[in-house]
Amino acid sequence: MPKITTLEDAFVHELSDIYSAEKQLTKALPKLAKATTNPNLAAGFTTHLEETQGQIERIDQIVEELGIKLKRIKCLAMEGLVAEGQETIDEIEKGPVRDVMLIAGAQKVEHYEIASYGALIAVAKALGHKNAAKLLAETLAEEKATDTKLNGLAMSEVNQQALDAAADLTPAQ
Ligand code: FE
Ligand code: FE
Ligand code: FE
Repeated sequence: MPKITTLEDAFVHELSDIYSAEKQLTKALPKLAKATTNPNLAAGFTTHLEETQGQIERIDQIVEELGIKLKRIKCLAMEGLVAEGQETIDEIEKGPVRDVMLIAGAQKVEHYEIASYGALIAVAKALGHKNAAKLLAETLAEEKATDTKLNGLAMSEVNQQALDAAADLTPAQ
């Protein structure tokens, strides 16, 4: 890890980490959209891909406004979360049970992002980076809304569809 001695260094490091995470997500979200048979879930992934591209632009804007330089680091947590999503796709057949697992994985991603942006906003405020804090708060709101939407989709239809699918597999007497 490169040397981090000041709060500003910590800010740049954390911003670089979430930048890497968002970039990785722009590659993973189209795969997730293809991996589901549920049109609402597919639409959710596609919508969040567009939001994610906007989130990357916000970070670009912050970098420009503050005249900082992001570090080329890889977010290992997001690499792991994306790998788990791939595992779900590789190991579970298309259908509602896979969708339940895709939602769980996607909620873990959103929670990682929520924690990252929450911490970044606090540091930005401490440093007096007011506009950065505002931009990061816009992204945080999108991540929270996405998590809520995913959870709602699981509760309103996908979990029940997975139950029904299992019932269909039970041999008739
Ligand atoms: Fe994001
Ligand atoms: Fe990370
Ligand atoms: Fe997100």
